[in-house]
Amino acid sequence: MLCHYSTEKLLGLKEVIVKNVRQLPQKPHLCPCCGHKTSNIHDYRWQTVKNIPAFGKHTVLIFRKRRYRCPSCGKRFFEENSFLPRYYRITNRFAAYIISKLTDVRSFTSVARESNLSVSTVIRIFDCIDYGKPRQLPAVVSIDEFKGNTGREKYQCILTDPLQPSAYRIFQPA
Ligand SMILES: [Zn+2]
Repeated sequence: MLCHYSTEKLLGLKEVIVKNVRQLPQKPHLCPCCGHKTSNIHDYRWQTVKNIPAFGKHTVLIFRKRRYRCPSCGKRFFEENSFLPRYYRITNRFAAYIISKLTDVRSFTSVARESNLSVSTVIRIFDCIDYGKPRQLPAVVSIDEFKGNTGREKYQCILTDPLQPSAYRIFQPA
């Protein structure tokens, strides 16, 4: 049970009483190896995950992650949950927060410093953005090249809709 002091530190609100704390529900998982459905918990591991800043301070979540054991093939695997993508050490909300920061004209280094992340992590989040295909091409297209830092080719090409500057695409040369 959280004491008042912890509540105040967690929420940044004095005189707030937390009435309920919910545990992540346990649900059956499919074995990634053989597809067998199981609810057998093998053990737990503590994991530290960076989360969206709260009240201007960097925050981390420390949670007990369940590890399941498949009764059919013996494979052990971690549970999936809605807030933490597989192989990531930051929450979905924090990744979305970083992407929103990248919509401003800022450097990766600046966003990384402000978010207490490494530059490579910020770039990896940026690379996960899926722009999809446009439904229709704009009436006017502006094309330019710039010296990039992707580590693959020296120059990248940028296509923009000059009538709508926020919509842009960056293409790697083949
Ligand atoms: Zn299995």
